Amino acid sequence: MDLLLLALLVALAVWTGRKLKRFVASRSAARHWRSTPGSSADNPIVLRSGKQMDQAIAAVRCQCGGRVLSLGETPRLGLRVARGRCVECERDVDLYFVMPNLVN
Ligand SMILES: [Zn+2]
Repeated sequence: MDLLLLALLVALAVWTGRKLKRFVASRSAARHWRSTPGSSADNPIVLRSGKQMDQAIAAVRCQCGGRVLSLGETPRLGLRVARGRCVECERDVDLYFVMPNLVN
């Protein structure tokens, strides 16, 4: 009976450890994403050419590491926003761009 309880406690500890590890990993992925240029309106990618926008959209990866499918662009808060969706986890991934010639 004590052995069963011990086995249960070990299983619980392993499960909690995995959960914790996954939680820490997802938090660090989210932090990395927030520090990526283009991830938010406060941190837009400064565009120097139209081609740069296409390249940035093609290169962006979701927080889970999945590819991002482009859903088109939309203006928002005076910025150009490329909307996308992760093909792996279906999270919405928006990239923010600013055109320096429009700012001046
Ligand atoms: Zn994803």
